[in-house]
Amino acid sequence: MKDEFARNIDYLRISVTDRCNLRCVYCMPEEGVDCASHDDILRYDEILRICRGLTGLGIRKVKLTGGEPLVRKDLPWLAARLKRLEGIEKVTLTTNGILLPQYMDELKKAGIDGINISLDTLDPGLFEQITRRDRLKEVKEGIEAAYRSGIPLKINCVPLGNAKQDLMEVAALARERKIHVRFIEMMPIGYGKQFTFLGEGEILQMLEDGFGAVQPCGEQLGNGPCHYYSLPGFCGKIGFISAISHKFCSGCNRIRLTSQGFLKACLQYETGCDLRKLLRSGASDEVILQAAEEVILKKPKGHQFLEREIREEESHSMAQIGG
Ligand code: SAM
Ligand code: SF4
Repeated sequence: MKDEFARNIDYLRISVTDRCNLRCVYCMPEEGVDCASHDDILRYDEILRICRGLTGLGIRKVKLTGGEPLVRKDLPWLAARLKRLEGIEKVTLTTNGILLPQYMDELKKAGIDGINISLDTLDPGLFEQITRRDRLKEVKEGIEAAYRSGIPLKINCVPLGNAKQDLMEVAALARERKIHVRFIEMMPIGYGKQFTFLGEGEILQMLEDGFGAVQPCGEQLGNGPCHYYSLPGFCGKIGFISAISHKFCSGCNRIRLTSQGFLKACLQYETGCDLRKLLRSGASDEVILQAAEEVILKKPKGHQFLEREIREEESHSMAQIGG
């Protein structure tokens, strides 16, 4: 359905857990976030009921995220069920890749349409500094498993403004293989507030210096706000999700469901509705749908990351919201 600003909302990001097997410095504290208890997290049947309802409002694409979605038991089962919902056209996954080798076959059988793997560096020391874990080897195995599966694969890289970060090595993953590498601007949400972002312009310059002329590519390669460039001799594209330097709120098509069942209208604000409370108090499908409709209608016009005074600012971490 369309929101107040005539944006067509057809994409839902579902955080299935706030737990994670990494501790990225811009996302989680060393000790992890206060994890919700088992009972607080939406059950799979509750997620499916909400999604079935949301298809009636025009949701067509679903992204499974977290925390780390693959640490939640039976995630491929949920993916398969979501794929079977009438109206759902695409189900994709965002993961840190560590558990992919273990679940790749099941995910493929589930019919997953795309996999995004987060990888900020290929340098083992820096990887450990950023994620506070020595698990780069497993992430690389996850990338290999995903690539071999033939499912469309994207790498998501967040530049931290650290001179040592080997952004061009990460970009080069798109050279020999059809893997799209996307640079995501650091957003001042949760633990991300302590970092500055490295703008698209600077990275484009590095790409030109390293690989030759970049050409904007009109193609839309996914569900979201990423815009892509081609590089000479590269099989994959290089993309940018530049929430701050190239604000894209006017074309935003998404809403978010947190692991505890809160339907969020915008990444930056608390605006939304506690659907878990409704579900567990016995609300009918109609009431739940009405509540979701209202969330979409009240979707804020855009983020205000660059403004000092913000009302109702989001207080959760990215791991809790799902990115
Ligand atoms: N654990 C999975 C992963 O890392 O892909 C899924 C959840 S994670 C919260 C989703 C995405 O959000 C990751 O690509 C991560 O790099 C990104 N992210 C986390 N905090 C961020 C921030 N402050 N600004 C921009 N992106 C952020
Ligand atoms: Fe975990 Fe993903 Fe957050 Fe890193 S970005 S701590 S992998 S949820």
